Amino acid sequence: MTVRVGVVGGGQLARMMIAPAVELGLEIRVLAEQEGMSASLAATQVGDYRDLDTVRAFAREVDVVTFDHEHVPQDVLRALVSEGVAVHPGPDALQFAQDKLVMRARLAELGMPQPDWAAVTSADELQVFLDAHGGRAVVKTPRGGYDGKGVRVVNAATEADDWFAALAEDGRGGALLVEELVEFTRELAQQVARRPSGEIVAYPVVETVQQGGVCAEVVAPAPRAGIRLAQVAERIGIAIAEGLGVTGMLAVELFETVDDRVLVNELAMRPHNSGHWTQDGAVTSQFEQHLRAVLDLPLGDPSARADWSVMINVLGGPSQGTLDGRFADAMAAHPRAKIHTYGKAPRPGRKVGHVTVTGDDLDDVAYEARAAASVFLD
Ligand code: ADP
Repeated sequence: MTVRVGVVGGGQLARMMIAPAVELGLEIRVLAEQEGMSASLAATQVGDYRDLDTVRAFAREVDVVTFDHEHVPQDVLRALVSEGVAVHPGPDALQFAQDKLVMRARLAELGMPQPDWAAVTSADELQVFLDAHGGRAVVKTPRGGYDGKGVRVVNAATEADDWFAALAEDGRGGALLVEELVEFTRELAQQVARRPSGEIVAYPVVETVQQGGVCAEVVAPAPRAGIRLAQVAERIGIAIAEGLGVTGMLAVELFETVDDRVLVNELAMRPHNSGHWTQDGAVTSQFEQHLRAVLDLPLGDPSARADWSVMINVLGGPSQGTLDGRFADAMAAHPRAKIHTYGKAPRPGRKVGHVTVTGDDLDDVAYEARAAASVFLD
C-alpha cells in the first residue's frame, strides 16, 4: 500500500514537499487553510487546523501527520497522539517552537548559548532588564510571530505598553520575552534532520541575510566559516534536536557575535527558508529529508553537491501584476539559475518564489543569483 503523508498547512513549504513525495512514491495530502493555496497541487482538503474534529478526520486518512507551520494547538496535537496518530514533530518537541519563552527556558536547561533573556509582565520589569543591559533590548511576543512581526527593539520600557496591554486583556497571565540586543556580525542557520528512531544528520551551516525581518538571501556553506564555527553550529543543532526530541527537519537560527560567540536565536521544526538551497545544492533536499525523517526512513546524505549555493527570495512588489512573465524573463536571461515559484498572488513583501544558483566560485554564483532575482524587482 502506498504510504500517505498528511501535511497540515497549505503554504509553499508543503508545496515543496510534493515533488520529493512523488519521487519517493508517497501519497501526499494537505490540510489547507483556504482554497487555492500554494500546496493545492496535492490532494487538498480545506479546514481549520485549530479544530480537533477537522484535524482528526484529516489524520485518519494518512499514515503520518506533519506540518508546514507551527500553529496547531497543543491540545489538538495531544489528542491525536493519545488516539495513536503518528505526529512528527510531536507536541512535546513542537511546544519549544511554538513559544519562545518555553524555548528559552528549555535551552537554558540544556546549557545552550543564548542571549541574556527574561520573562517580563510589566513595564517595571522591562525597565529592570533595560537598566541591566545599557538601556536597549529586544522585546518579543512569545507566540505567533514570524518574519520579524512580534519583534521590537526598545529604548524605553514604555515602548512595549501596547503589548503589555494586550497581555492584560488576554487575561491568561502571559509574559513577554525580552532579550539583550545582540551585537552580531551575521546570522547563521544550522539544519539537522532526526528520525524517531534516533538517526540524525547535519547540513552545512549557512549564512542568512535578513532585510526588514524577512530572510532575503542564504549562502551555503557560510563563507569564512572555519572548522571550529562549523563544528560549534553542528553540535548546537544536534544537541537541540536530541534534547528536545525533534523529529523531522530542525532549523536553528544563530547569531555570530562580534566577540566570536554563537548564540541561538530561534527554532523551526519543519523545512525552513534557510534550507531552500538544498533543493539544488545538496545531495538530499530538506523537503525530501523531512519526509524521510517523519516516516522514520533512512536519512539521505546532507552534503553540498557544489562548492557554493546562493538562494535569493523573490518577494512580491508594489506594482507587479502576475509574475508569470517575469519568471519566464528570469529563465531566459539566467539559464543557470534554478527558478522556484510558489503559485501565490504577488502581494508586496510576500514570499512568492526563490532562485538558487550553484557553482565553484562564490562571487560568480552570488552575482548570477542576484541578477536572476533582480528580474522580479520593480
Ligand atoms: P521571527 O520569529 O519573526 O522570525 P526572530 O526572533 O527570528 O523573529 O527575530 C527576527 C530578526 O530580528 C532576527 O532575524 C534578527 O535579525 C533580529 N533579532 C531578533 N532577536 C534579536 C536579538 N536578541 N538581538 C539582535 N537582533 C535580534
